[in-house]
Amino acid sequence: MADSRGSHLSVVLDLSPSQWHLSAENPPTNPFPLSLSSFLSQLLTFLNAHIASKHENSLAVFGAFPRKSILLYASSNTPTSDDTMDANWFPPFRQVDFTVVRRITEELDSLEGASEDEAPTALVGALTKALCYVNRIMQPPAQAIAKPSDKVDLSTLPEPHILILSVSPDLATSYIPIMNAIFSAQKLKVMIDVCQIYGEDSVFLQQAAHLTGGSYILLERRDALLQYLIMCFLSPQSIRQTLSVPTQDRIDFRAACFCHKNIVDIGFICSVCLSIFCQPVPVCSTCRTKFPMKTLQRLNASRPASANVSNRPSPSPAQSRPAVTSTNGDTPRSHGLSELPSTSSINAHTRTASNGTKSS
Ligand SMILES: [Zn+2]
Ligand SMILES: [Zn+2]
Repeated sequence: MADSRGSHLSVVLDLSPSQWHLSAENPPTNPFPLSLSSFLSQLLTFLNAHIASKHENSLAVFGAFPRKSILLYASSNTPTSDDTMDANWFPPFRQVDFTVVRRITEELDSLEGASEDEAPTALVGALTKALCYVNRIMQPPAQAIAKPSDKVDLSTLPEPHILILSVSPDLATSYIPIMNAIFSAQKLKVMIDVCQIYGEDSVFLQQAAHLTGGSYILLERRDALLQYLIMCFLSPQSIRQTLSVPTQDRIDFRAACFCHKNIVDIGFICSVCLSIFCQPVPVCSTCRTKFPMKTLQRLNASRPASANVSNRPSPSPAQSRPAVTSTNGDTPRSHGLSELPSTSSINAHTRTASNGTKSS
């Protein structure tokens, strides 16, 4: 790795006011309370540590608020004129701390008069913006493009990774956009780390971390947040193989059906376009393929009595299933629906994933 190569960190903050309110509640309902202000002070220490690790390191912070996502801070932006200098404060630190806190306070204040029902946070929007930002900084400099005869030295481009700090439960309606964001991240070779700070395991974010080679951590001791952040998420991708960064033992591979946006234990896949449905359907709603009556009857007859749709995002690990697999069962000669794999093959899949991550 070239010495001049820095690492870029994009942080996506889930700033749902109601979830942070729950997170700050006192024991016994909440054994390790963490308030938003305590979270921010620990986060800023982590961000400062990232900037201080290497002179070339860059940073962008995105906030996901109810219904909107915004760029809170980017190190590529020029300093604003209202920043007064402080001789006792390293200017880059001051700039991050000042800008991030000010922008979050402004946004939360503007939400104050909003209606009682809080809209879900725009986490996917913030993640997509983070990916766009990474895509932009990974382009070779303009003068290199102007002279295509010169070889572009890709080793000087920063090494990107994204960290999602989430407090909200999974939003089943965002399954398709989040999967698309994951595939974009894979294509850009961007690692996504996830820290679920409050609440239950997130099915979709687990998959995001697994599919992009990042770490997923569900925080058990929220009072030790800074330690988790520094130990698990500070190092860039190239150093991760040398360090023993915690990975998942089990990954929840369940998907959301395209028809009702429910997270399903058993799904039925269109063999043409790979759309997922919670029950056998005569016509695929995505690609309009008609399925033979015989296939529908056979699939309906083979459905176990308990194969109902589950609205709850958190299953027992034994129920974990791969999201999309179309190779199972008889090869459809005509267009047909294929059922997701049986329990045994799924358990095997989960085990393989677990072994794979442990050995690395
Ligand atoms: Zn459905
Ligand atoms: Zn289809």
